[in-house]
Amino acid sequence: MSLLTLANVNAVKEMVLEKVNLHKKKVWVVGHSGLVGSSLIRKLENDDCSILTAKRSELNLLDQSEVNKWVLFNRPDLVIVCAGKVGGIKANLDSPYEFLYENSLILINVIHASFKYNVEKLVNISSSCIYPREALNPLNEKMICSGSVEPSNEGYAYSKIIGLKMCEALAKQYNKNFLSLVSTNLYGPNDNFNLRTAHAPAALIRKFHEAKMRNDKFVDIWGSGNAIREFLHVDDFAEACLLILKNYNSVKPINIGSGNGITLKEFALEIKKIVGFKGKVNFGNNNLDGMPSKVLDTSNLKRLGWKPKLSLREGLKLYYNWYRKSIYTKNKNNLINLPIFAKKNRTQTQEKSFSGNFT
Ligand code: NAP
Repeated sequence: MSLLTLANVNAVKEMVLEKVNLHKKKVWVVGHSGLVGSSLIRKLENDDCSILTAKRSELNLLDQSEVNKWVLFNRPDLVIVCAGKVGGIKANLDSPYEFLYENSLILINVIHASFKYNVEKLVNISSSCIYPREALNPLNEKMICSGSVEPSNEGYAYSKIIGLKMCEALAKQYNKNFLSLVSTNLYGPNDNFNLRTAHAPAALIRKFHEAKMRNDKFVDIWGSGNAIREFLHVDDFAEACLLILKNYNSVKPINIGSGNGITLKEFALEIKKIVGFKGKVNFGNNNLDGMPSKVLDTSNLKRLGWKPKLSLREGLKLYYNWYRKSIYTKNKNNLINLPIFAKKNRTQTQEKSFSGNFT
């Protein structure tokens, strides 16, 4: 057997060991009310499993003893960790300590309790922010921790590295099936549209929409527009995440992204077109650009047979439609009440009011 063929066989062995069947399993979606969590819930409702959730008011994820008690009482079989303090570049620059502290504690508490009470498999959702700022694109999983992260999101990035390293250590030392996936930038229903804390897709949708409604002559955008990013609709992400939950068992983290880079200028102009704003766009300087380029190498994910269903344009159109519907619902009822989750299989259930508060 040639060296190349042997390497391929080993790669496949590492990637697909055994399938996890969700049949009658209890799946705890930690952070179920957010962008990622709510999409996972929508998808999991098609599986024959029980979905466990806990509201922030019912379970303080920053408290290890509370998390231990909750896990001991509810006994999840599978855990997907998508709770976290999440925000755009300005929020990260303003509160590096809170991003480091809260995210580290959430990950330490949930991963440790899951280990202590014998959770069968845990999927930790990490972020492309963990890659070194200067790493060559596309960012391959082997480059993680090979250099310094982007300073503007250092607190967040190191907390995400802690989660990833905990999973790796538990897998190596105790043979636990705990692994991390590394997510690109996401957008979709239940995104956060608060302009102080939003990520680029939500901030751009809201800015262009409001400028269109006011007939503004221009919109100011943070950053030079030259930074390169990739974007993925959260429903495509959730499908990849569930594929990994069911089929991928490895100590090694795996990237989830579209694999297609786009400058923020091109991205903003695409949103402008979809929203139908006719005015001018003013870009700023490069102080708020963050990492120059962040495009993931998704070849490992592709080998599992996944590809996104939505093109960027299709995804953004759905996103804008959802946003308009949400505003309409808000204006009509004076509160947003989306999405209305089906109650099927929910052991602790709640309907989430809209996470973006439009302030
Ligand atoms: P999100 O919309 O802000 O949702 C975060 C979730 O975590 C919410 O359910 C929130 O509950 C919960 N949460 C936060 N702090 C909590 C605390 N102290 N106690 C209990 N619950 C808490 O975030 P997301 O965009 O879905 O992100 C999910 C995960 O994906 C995060 O780990 C993030 O780092 C990762 N990720 C996201 C992106 C992205 O583009 N969005 C990209 C890469 C990685 P409440 O509803 O009560 O606030």
